[in-house]
Amino acid sequence: MQFIDLGAQQKRIRERLENNIRAVLDHGQYVMGPEIQLLEEKLAEYIEASFALSCASGTDALLLALMAYNVGPGDAIFTTPFTFVSTGEVIGLLGATPVFVDIDPQTFNIDSSKLEQAIAAVNSENSNLHPLPRTSDIGPLRPRGVIAVDLFGLPADYQRLEATVKNSGLFIIEDAAQSFGAEFQGKKACALADIGCTSFFPAKPLGCYGDGGMCFTDDKELYDIMKSLRIHGKGTDKYDNVRTGINGRMDTLQAAILLSKFEIFAEEVELRQTVADRYRKLLMSLETITLPQVPVGVKSVWAQYSILARDENHRSQLQAKLKAADIPTAVYYPKPLHLQTAYISLDYKEGEFAISEDCSRRIFSLPMHPYLKEKDQTKIAEIIAKNDK
Ligand SMILES: *Cc1c(COP(=O)(O)O)cnc(C)c1O
Repeated sequence: MQFIDLGAQQKRIRERLENNIRAVLDHGQYVMGPEIQLLEEKLAEYIEASFALSCASGTDALLLALMAYNVGPGDAIFTTPFTFVSTGEVIGLLGATPVFVDIDPQTFNIDSSKLEQAIAAVNSENSNLHPLPRTSDIGPLRPRGVIAVDLFGLPADYQRLEATVKNSGLFIIEDAAQSFGAEFQGKKACALADIGCTSFFPAKPLGCYGDGGMCFTDDKELYDIMKSLRIHGKGTDKYDNVRTGINGRMDTLQAAILLSKFEIFAEEVELRQTVADRYRKLLMSLETITLPQVPVGVKSVWAQYSILARDENHRSQLQAKLKAADIPTAVYYPKPLHLQTAYISLDYKEGEFAISEDCSRRIFSLPMHPYLKEKDQTKIAEIIAKNDK
């Protein structure tokens, strides 16, 4: 059994893929070829965002978004420690400081009431209100923005987030790397904040065959800045550079691949929901595991189907039993960012983000993709049920 079966998907669209790749080989515009603009138009329409800007990866999408706001040293960016490393990495790369905020245990996404505390703590330099980074060399931090992560494909609560930052002038960036295709109160993920950033890494809900990413926004000014930043801070032409940017373009070949995959994407989103519904039905009566919760009005795209075991030992036991039956599982994420070596200089302490820490010890993800068979899910559920004690 495979954790994510990209082969089954490729089989369905192989011919379309080959045609699209051949078209690029024929026209030879490997960098910023016509497929790039076509993809941007199609995905902007799908997301219902005014502007879409393709880029080289989800990490670059986040970086471009922060750069568009001119984020730098002294800026506090609020995000959760229970995420893929990119979310914190881009903050550090720009010399800004990640101020971590714990997650809601039900959704694994940022907890708005704790965010409110964190903003107040930074404003008043009072770490009794909320655990703050212990950095003596940067002076007082200035709250600038929030990166909300839509973990495992489930959008964060943007209604509460907006209300929380309303009077503070903070921007919100949506890390939608895992949630392309999801929805929050009738709006598509990627369109839920000032800028939405997604990834087309092969394992994401919509993936290419390499690296790729995209930024979405309704703000023309931000779009124009990101567009310039994406190509070395380009001004009126290639050799007119008006700001320091990056080489952050998406390859034409990846855009061509995404165009062929996008044709069946809506159907795949439905299939993912069917697979998730089946897991729920098969596992809901078990007592020692906690299934993912989806709040009313929200649709997950199920980038992962992640469940909580009773404790760390129980998780190891379940994973070992599944592995013995040739069923792969994965742990996202075994170590929250505040305890990673890369963030050691922030001097966060164990216990400061207790829910993230607890989840990192208990969580694991089951095989999840649109083509997962019912009989495989039944087998997975049987093994977990046998160890439901
Ligand atoms: C995958 C991922 C990213 C980074 O995307 P890449 O395309 O791999 O650079 C960022 N944030 C989250 C939450 C992710 O899962």
